[in-house]
Amino acid sequence: ASSQIRHGEPSVLEIGGRKIGGDNFALIAGPCTVESREQTLGTAATVAAAGVTLFRGGAYKPRTSPYAFHGLGQEGLRLLAEAKRETGLPIVTELMDVRDLEPVLEVADVIQIGARNMQNYTLLTELGRAGRPVLLKRGLSATLEELLNASEYILKEGNEAVMLCERGIRTFETAYRFTLDLTAVPVLKELTHLPIIVDPSHAAGRRDLVQPLSLAAAAVGADGIIVEVHPNPDEAICDGPQQLVAAEFAAYAEKVAQAAAVA
Ligand code: PEP
Ligand code: MN
Repeated sequence: ASSQIRHGEPSVLEIGGRKIGGDNFALIAGPCTVESREQTLGTAATVAAAGVTLFRGGAYKPRTSPYAFHGLGQEGLRLLAEAKRETGLPIVTELMDVRDLEPVLEVADVIQIGARNMQNYTLLTELGRAGRPVLLKRGLSATLEELLNASEYILKEGNEAVMLCERGIRTFETAYRFTLDLTAVPVLKELTHLPIIVDPSHAAGRRDLVQPLSLAAAAVGADGIIVEVHPNPDEAICDGPQQLVAAEFAAYAEKVAQAAAVA
């Protein structure tokens, strides 16, 4: 068998009645992690009112320290299901361990594979078999070729509903969290028909950089953006400094929509 993603028309994924890829620009937003009912439903209502495409939120969190908070697990999934019922927004949430696949499949319209699991080939193969759309994030130090090969583990099993995500890579620079590799966007678009999503939140690690990087992502031809939003980022359990303030989200979404329209 050979490569399935290196040629062909741009793929358009259908997720809960919304289209991602082709002429569509997706805005995916929500908290880093599901913390409470109030925080999750409040953020979902805010981003839904701003017209986002999907709601994001983690119930299983990959944390650098084993002593950090690792998510609410199944309780988090229940809150995401409630957010979906209340807003009608499709859900994207991360799966880290194949043993959690069944409960995640009950709520996730899109399963996120985080940067740290990009080369977890057994997990990728299982997702290929599960058949649910996948948001595959680029590894912290992965080349584009490695990212493309990782996606093929999913496609090889017959699941073609994959989008790739540039979320910043490790470089020598330490002034911000990661280096957002925007050159990857037009280059990946040459190499694959899969939709390309940009995550400026994890790349920058700083809220003030999220809007300019979002506009830049739209300008270089990204198919969408995934960003973190919190009602009160100073009190967020995880990734507070980079989360957009929910009260400011509508203005941000408007700017992004304008940039996507002229791109
Ligand atoms: C996330 O999206 O919350 C996340 C942990 O992202 P990444 O895997 O890109 O670090
Ligand atoms: Mn995060």
